[in-house]
Amino acid sequence: MQDLREDSLWNAVAHRDAAYDGVFYFGVKTTGVYCRPGCPSRQPKRENVVFAFSPAMLAAKGYRPCRRCRPDARDPRDEAAGTVVALCRAIEEAEHPLSLEDVARVASMSGSAVTRLFREALGVTPKGYADSHRVERFRETLRGGAGVLDATYASGYGSSSRVYESANGCLGMTPKSYRERGRGQRVAYTVTETAMGWLLVAATDRGVSAVKLGDDAALLVDELGREFSAADLSGDDGPLAAWTKLLVEYLSGHVPWPQLPYDVRATAFQRRVWEFLRRIPVGETMHYSDVAEALGQPTATRAVARACATNPVALVVPCHRVVPKGPGFAGFRWGIERKRKLLQLEGSPEANR
Ligand SMILES: [Zn+2]
Repeated sequence: MQDLREDSLWNAVAHRDAAYDGVFYFGVKTTGVYCRPGCPSRQPKRENVVFAFSPAMLAAKGYRPCRRCRPDARDPRDEAAGTVVALCRAIEEAEHPLSLEDVARVASMSGSAVTRLFREALGVTPKGYADSHRVERFRETLRGGAGVLDATYASGYGSSSRVYESANGCLGMTPKSYRERGRGQRVAYTVTETAMGWLLVAATDRGVSAVKLGDDAALLVDELGREFSAADLSGDDGPLAAWTKLLVEYLSGHVPWPQLPYDVRATAFQRRVWEFLRRIPVGETMHYSDVAEALGQPTATRAVARACATNPVALVVPCHRVVPKGPGFAGFRWGIERKRKLLQLEGSPEANR
């Protein structure tokens, strides 16, 4: 690991910053124990500390997990993610739309606990998720050549006016304006030179909506202009400047990977894949097929690869942490060589595949 990053890692340990729990781990040479950054135990001297991005790396060096901060225990966020994924499948597979009470019963939780869980993991309520899934199914059926009426019933809506109501709520715009490339949306953007080439970041007030990497700044801006041709594009920053700074610093190895909020349009499936990718620890990788399996859809390997390839927010959704089973890196929208460099930056052994 580069020295440059150790300053910021040590800083997190010195402040017992629990925000970095799950981001990295540290071992203490004098005690042979390893901890999470937020551990309440007595603080070690800096010269006795070694850093790693996964518990396995420290265990392999002979360190034992601390009994107070339990760095080897499963992250509770992972368990929550598992529950959410199971509930999403139940919602998708139900013959009739499930009520919040139905979902709560499946989860053996209260309605408010289920709602909180969904909001934290997916940013929507169970009803919002069910609606967006139904809209997706509706679009698929339409694309398959069915008429509006057939599509309406096939996707579980009682009447076509309900389709418009739901589509409106979940897309934040009407089905007609959906095709109008961000009309009425305010999107700020900035382009910066980084250690890995040009970086374009675009954001609304709610989150990052595009992150692009490339060798030519003008091309990146051009691409953004095409994708958001009807949006109100501006250089006005809001939270954009802070988010961009974190990404630039991360690319030069100065800070750990920042988990930035993102605000993008996506199908329910894309959102599930992307949320899952954000939980792959820094320094680790997974195969496309493992991701499909972990999502409970073992036959969806190609759909997972497609969700990675259509990721509009490079780095924020770390699709570079997914690699094929065979040799090489498969595709990376922002350049294979950049994928290798990103994995190198994160200390992944797969950078040399
Ligand atoms: Zn500890």
